[in-house]
Amino acid sequence: MSRIAYVNGRYVPHGAAVVSIDDRGYVFADGVYEVVAVERGQLVDEAAHLARLKRSLAELRIMAPMEEAPLRHVLRQVVKRNGIKRGMVYLQITRGVAPRDHGFPTAAWPQLVVTAKRLAAPSAKAMAEGVGIVTIPDIRWRRCDIKSVSLLPNILGKQVARDQGAHEAWQIDDQGQVTEGTSSNAWIVSADGVLLTRPSGDEILNGITRLVVLELVAELGLPFEQRAFGLEEARVASEAFLTSTTAHVLPITRIDGQPVGDGKPGRFTTALAERYRRHLDQAR
Ligand code: PMP
Repeated sequence: MSRIAYVNGRYVPHGAAVVSIDDRGYVFADGVYEVVAVERGQLVDEAAHLARLKRSLAELRIMAPMEEAPLRHVLRQVVKRNGIKRGMVYLQITRGVAPRDHGFPTAAWPQLVVTAKRLAAPSAKAMAEGVGIVTIPDIRWRRCDIKSVSLLPNILGKQVARDQGAHEAWQIDDQGQVTEGTSSNAWIVSADGVLLTRPSGDEILNGITRLVVLELVAELGLPFEQRAFGLEEARVASEAFLTSTTAHVLPITRIDGQPVGDGKPGRFTTALAERYRRHLDQAR
């Protein structure tokens, strides 16, 4: 089945899908995006993703290109036309097409692109053994709560991880505290057994997976605190994991080459990964 993309009102073959070279997403990274997981052909946590999208648009004063109901229709169409059973749908909205000038254009219509792709479930080996992460300074801007397509520090950070054979890089702020991964949220279980994740704020993206996992934490009654934790605390943690739409709940068993706890995925992590899998299986 050939891939189909949606571009501003039309469904077109992926390879023939084009936007203008004056699109402000291309020129200034002036746009936002969302990634929604697809399970059994169903969108997972769609309402939460659309709520975050609305917020990102409002923070940047970008107009919504269409109402929510037709947008939901387009997302489903793209999933269906690409025959995606398990994977993701990607949605991007930019401020519009206008001659290059930093200030907002007076007459530009937001541009909407939607694509979808198949994804395998996170590998059984990674889930069973955990992955390694490295740590890097957080060099991003101060509005990481906005899901902007401006991702240069994130892609540079991810490449540092890849170059070192690691799965992800955790970013460390000026106070020595972990903010988040380059494309995921960060969690640890402290040496004394308390699950920790940084509170939402301008320094992190409030992950939708993070929000779901917070609900699962409450359901399971795990000892928990939303507070920032430092690199030193992470190094002596008994467990660590990351969360994201595509990685789900992924155990971390090495930080900067050193084992986390006993070097195996921990009890809280395994319980939450299992509960999250059930959450995905319930998508309708
Ligand atoms: N933080 C960053 C910087 C991200 O890019 C992502 C993934 N988009 C996340 C956190 C996790 O967010 P979500 O659970 O909504 O995928």
